[in-house]
Amino acid sequence: MSKFTISTNKRYELVDITSKVEEKVEKAKKGEGAVVIFVPHSTAAILITENEANLKKDWINFLKDKVEGYNFNHNKIDDNADSHILSGLIGQSKTIPFKNGRLERGTWQQISLVELDGPRRRNINIKIV
Ligand code: ZN
Repeated sequence: MSKFTISTNKRYELVDITSKVEEKVEKAKKGEGAVVIFVPHSTAAILITENEANLKKDWINFLKDKVEGYNFNHNKIDDNADSHILSGLIGQSKTIPFKNGRLERGTWQQISLVELDGPRRRNINIKIV
């Protein structure tokens, strides 16, 4: 397993990590398999989407809208229930197949770290299987 770290700047933010994941897969020099991208955090997520500025804004607006005004119990002890809920829904890992060191992804399928309780430093674990 290998890992890298990303520093986020906002409470909610999408950060493209496609090239960092591709670099790890290339360096592994494996013929065929899958890469598991996992965040060991319960207030962040991994999302596959197009890395386009307006779409990233749409994602943030959509996610904020889903949790706005909700009376979360967890906020009595820790004011980030929205972050945990969205992290669980989006998911804390994704698996992508690869062949000869290249991800078998679609042209508009980029990999984003979704920050939901930033700014923070986030670890991204990469496991080649
Ligand atoms: Zn919490």
